[in-house]
Amino acid sequence: MMPSHLSARPDQHWLHRARVPVSLTEGAELEADAEGLALVDIEIRNGLIATLQPAAAEPPANADHLDGGQVWPLFVDMHTHLDKGHIWGRAPNADGSHGTAARTVAADRRAHWRFEDVARRFDFGVRCAVAHGTGALRTHLDSYEIAQAETSWAVFGEQRRQWADHIDLQAVAMARLDAYQGADGARLLDLVAEHGGVAGGILKSEGPLAPALDHLLQGAAERGLDLDLHVDETHDPNAQGLRAVAEAVLRNRFPGTVTCGHCCSLARQSDDDIALTLARVKAAGLAVVTLPMVNLYLQDRGTGGTPHWRGLTLVKELRAAGVPVAAASDNCRDPFFAFGDHDGLEVFREFVRIAQLDPDWAGWFGAVTRTPAAIMGLARRGRLAVGLPADLVLFRGRSMSELLARPQTDRRVLHRGRDIDTALPDYRELDDLIGAVS
Ligand SMILES: [Zn+2]
Repeated sequence: MMPSHLSARPDQHWLHRARVPVSLTEGAELEADAEGLALVDIEIRNGLIATLQPAAAEPPANADHLDGGQVWPLFVDMHTHLDKGHIWGRAPNADGSHGTAARTVAADRRAHWRFEDVARRFDFGVRCAVAHGTGALRTHLDSYEIAQAETSWAVFGEQRRQWADHIDLQAVAMARLDAYQGADGARLLDLVAEHGGVAGGILKSEGPLAPALDHLLQGAAERGLDLDLHVDETHDPNAQGLRAVAEAVLRNRFPGTVTCGHCCSLARQSDDDIALTLARVKAAGLAVVTLPMVNLYLQDRGTGGTPHWRGLTLVKELRAAGVPVAAASDNCRDPFFAFGDHDGLEVFREFVRIAQLDPDWAGWFGAVTRTPAAIMGLARRGRLAVGLPADLVLFRGRSMSELLARPQTDRRVLHRGRDIDTALPDYRELDDLIGAVS
């Protein structure tokens, strides 16, 4: 069910005394406070932002008084797994490890992932994302077997068409590098291209990594595809996949955008290894997406004792080196992560806490908005500017402490200037697929 617009608003109105992250605005002369925020009035006309200016002392005619509450552009969640989502009830992770997660998902995929099963869980995840205020979302689709890939990409094509007025959906093929070899490999790349998708996967292959990466990059370049890879999810300092991807991109002069997800191992390496990898990543023009909640959940779990590290890659050092760094949800309620709700604000809140990003707010507002929008090539997402759609999230929280101390479940979401229904879907809808909680 699509969200309905609650109110028949006039075609013109103002949001008065909204507090916006200045680093997400363009074209307005705004003076940021110590947290990088500024009080503004926003005029919405015919669904677009028509004016963005410092707040006037008196409210304009036809205004919503926001009383200093923050207004953000819709979130951009650039790394999710909607095909796996919400299977936890029938496929829990017995020990919480990454290996068990992968094996449990593979068994569930073989047993259950027919069109309707994937479509209904995918749709459920999209509805959560839209209700929380997400305007663009990229999902990986397990494409390890070509028959499964055909099913899941067909679901994606249908969902993208159904949701086109509400959220921009992109998909990435998730496969071992071997899956791109031979006739099935060419078919997979063609399938991705037919859906306007992105090539990707995990850095595993039977043979050496470099030629397998070269083969993928060449196939992607021939079809004009971007790349989005799961680089490593390990504490092992010898996992040098990030540097290997950078060197492959440089060696092949790959023309597309390349995103590297997770990259946990970087945080465990020597200073010399880190410096060399950061230089190569910058030279290759890679982007990095970190998945803070899932890294915290899966990393450093092996011994059963209390974990000693937080699992994240070196987000501050990457950004300081000039590498675009985004943050995203990753898995929701599947064996890789028992929790999650496709909520961009939860991602930002947990990212801030886990990586200790405060008080550099201005440096990180973009991690769940404009940075992933730029990586995904979405010119109209992730920013506040005159002429862009009035696709906004309105919070009661005024300061950063108020915003992040509570989950902001009373937030409003505007599409084209109009409130949408922000009720979340009920888990009971999926009981016939997943099994009821007894
Ligand atoms: Zn992932």
